[in-house]
Amino acid sequence: MNQKTINIHDKHFAPFIKFEEIDRAVAQIADRMNKELRDKNPLFIAILNGSFMFASDLFHKLDFPCEITFVKLASYSGTKSTETVRQLIGIDEDVVGRNIVIVEDIIDSGLTIERVLTQLRMIGAADIRIATLLYKPNTFKGDYAIDYVGLEIGNDFIVGYGLDYDKQGRNYKDIYKIVE
Ligand code: 5GP
Ligand code: MG
Repeated sequence: MNQKTINIHDKHFAPFIKFEEIDRAVAQIADRMNKELRDKNPLFIAILNGSFMFASDLFHKLDFPCEITFVKLASYSGTKSTETVRQLIGIDEDVVGRNIVIVEDIIDSGLTIERVLTQLRMIGAADIRIATLLYKPNTFKGDYAIDYVGLEIGNDFIVGYGLDYDKQGRNYKDIYKIVE
């Protein structure tokens, strides 16, 4: 097996996306936001746990007035989506009439974001945009637009750069793909 392969619990993961490529994708999103959101004083809402690294790298590339807060949701168990999204920490900021940007590490089925969208609309957010570092178009079931996508990937389960397998692997700088 390739010597750069990593082992987490019972599974092996092979190198997939280097940090340099991730960083370029984050910079491209930031460039667009620096133009498109400059006068909107947006509130970024990052979805914990997975998006903490992307949110941090994105946020310090922005150079206009903006705010960030966090919600905590969980839908994955092991390497599979459970199709039920549990909310663990809610939104406590005033979102009425505000421009919101949801920040997600990866959009798979799209259910997690759908749940956040519904809540934000109910509590009166004005304009809601979605930013995700990674997007799995083949498994996406949502009927909403994703405004900022870093990289499109296939269906494989990945770890690293904030993403975990059963709580481990978030610390890796690069992204790794499961070896079946
Ligand atoms: P969705 O609700 O769109 O199906 O899934 C979104 C959440 O599932 C993501 O925020 C992430 O936490 C998790 N997820 C989806 N695909 C992957 C993956 O390939 N690897 C990891 N580690 N988590 C994933
Ligand atoms: Mg996530």
